[in-house]
This record gives sequence, structure tokens and C-alpha cells, in this order.
Amino acid sequence: MSRAGLATCRDCGKPIRWTRTEAGKRLAVNPEPDPAGNTAVWRDGAGAWRSRRPSAELPLNGWERLHKPHVATCPAHQEQLELPVGVVRLDDHRRRNSGR
Ligand SMILES: [Zn+2]
Repeated sequence: MSRAGLATCRDCGKPIRWTRTEAGKRLAVNPEPDPAGNTAVWRDGAGAWRSRRPSAELPLNGWERLHKPHVATCPAHQEQLELPVGVVRLDDHRRRNSGR
């Protein structure tokens, strides 16, 4: 599979692919297809990567592959979700002590 056009996640350093959703928003997905993913990804006629949510009325097309949004698997984001509230306060404390 071609790695051309891949970007790198700023949070975890893993490769990601930027796609544009039907709403015109940018969505980063994992470059490798994942059957457990919830996002259909394809390349349009202009060579742009597009993504959408498959639905009952519009199921996956033959030219689309399922991917997972990168944020769903990004290790950096998983850690953020699990951070206890107190850690933020500790960071503030450190910053105050070293910020002179
Ligand atoms: Zn990441």
C-alpha cells in the first residue's frame, strides 16, 4: 500500500491519513483499513481522500474501505481520557515553581 500523502499524528507520531467528510470537515483516520472501523474511506476522481459514515440506506460501496478514525485508537488520546483530575493541578504546581 502506498504511503504517499500520509501525515503524522502530532500526539503519538503514528501515520494518519487526512480525509474530508461529506460535511467538509477534516477527519484523520488510520491509514490501514480496519473491518471494525465505522468510517468509509475512498478516493474521489480528483485524488482526494474522502470519508463518510456508512448507514442502512447507504451501506459500504465496493470502492470504499472501512477505517477507524485515528482519535479512536490514538494512544495519546486514550491517556488523556484516563488522566485523573489531580494531574492537571500537579502540572500547574510544577509550572509555578519552575517559571521564574
Ligand atoms: Zn495519534
